[in-house]
Amino acid sequence: MTEKINANQNESLQQLVAYVAEKSAFYKKVFSERGIDINTIHTPADLTKLPFTTKDDLAQYNDDFLCVPKNKITDFVTTSGTMSDPVAFYLTDLDVERLAANEAASFRCADGSENDIYQLMTTIDKRFMAGLAYWMGARKIGAGIIRVGPGAPFLQWESIQRFSPTVLIAIPSFIPRLLDYADANGIDYASSGVNSIICIGEPIRNADFTLNELGKRITSQWNVKLYSTYASTEMGAAFTECHEGKGGHLNPDLLILEVVDDEENAVEDGGLGEVVVTTLGVEGMPLLRYKTGDLCHVHYKPCACGRDTARLGPVVGRKQQMIKFKGTTIFPPALFDVLDMVKEIELYQVVVSKNEYGNDEITVLLPMQLQTAVFKEMLHSLFKSKLRVSPVMEFVTAEELTFRIYKQEKRKPEKLIYI
Ligand SMILES: [Zn+2]
Repeated sequence: MTEKINANQNESLQQLVAYVAEKSAFYKKVFSERGIDINTIHTPADLTKLPFTTKDDLAQYNDDFLCVPKNKITDFVTTSGTMSDPVAFYLTDLDVERLAANEAASFRCADGSENDIYQLMTTIDKRFMAGLAYWMGARKIGAGIIRVGPGAPFLQWESIQRFSPTVLIAIPSFIPRLLDYADANGIDYASSGVNSIICIGEPIRNADFTLNELGKRITSQWNVKLYSTYASTEMGAAFTECHEGKGGHLNPDLLILEVVDDEENAVEDGGLGEVVVTTLGVEGMPLLRYKTGDLCHVHYKPCACGRDTARLGPVVGRKQQMIKFKGTTIFPPALFDVLDMVKEIELYQVVVSKNEYGNDEITVLLPMQLQTAVFKEMLHSLFKSKLRVSPVMEFVTAEELTFRIYKQEKRKPEKLIYI
């Protein structure tokens, strides 16, 4: 990174440490219990003098992280909480502005401009931070945005035809459904004017940056460019790909990034580790060395786009979502990747449970019409060849499966559940 970025980061970090030492009940306690002298923290390299903040800390001492009185809070959000209860997150007016600045920078990184019209296919309410960020970011770069929300293929196509958006913002696994709907209803999507999709929440690439099965499935059917973005409520910032598609770029004004191995040491260029972030410029709930649980490859070499900021590859898995199945370690994205290879599978849900011996079991729920001996044998062999193990298959009606995946009270489709 350049010297100017380094100087800015050093200054923002020093301000942050002084701020939480004064305002955050949680960090005040941590600093005093561990005898940490904040005057010894000058640069990101000094962060190793501080302990990590974990998801458990955030859940257990949630409100102790808050640095302002509650009447200063503008927006109340919660984390997604796939594995646990969602945690509260509070944004002040300044934090909302930071979020807008983050998303504006993200859109620009993904080649967005004031000439673009975005179609938002995620929820903007339900206490969800990202939808709000997209709306504000588009506004900030002078672009237009259509808030269609999730699901509703008819309304998506009707909006595309009526308003001619250039960019879709979507959970990528929704796109094959959208295209199937278009095919079934004679919609000419090839000439729609949509030229790219910002893909959130799920990887579209393999670790070597080639498109994964889902990414291939979308681009083989539709001539669009895919941009991946990785973000979370806790960081209030996104890692977004540029046109090179070689991992999401860090925004160094908003985050300090560390990627650490199991022994909590920084991994080398190209290595795989857990993403750890320190949030810069946050007023409501700033975090120091927050362990996200997300495992990514990190790349420090300058990108061909000219940016020299660190880049993160696709999320290989979440630490807490690691499945030990019949002696093999599997992360859910690897299961999705196999299922996405099969054209006949439009809907699926992966159910992870514990058996009577405390071992993980994996069941894949599929639509009833696929329940033939030929199909089962094909999928079984495919799983065996790709992952060495094959999960149990269960077949339910398409209606029931749709109901299970697209629950009204959930913000995202549930491709994965734990019972
Ligand atoms: Zn780049």
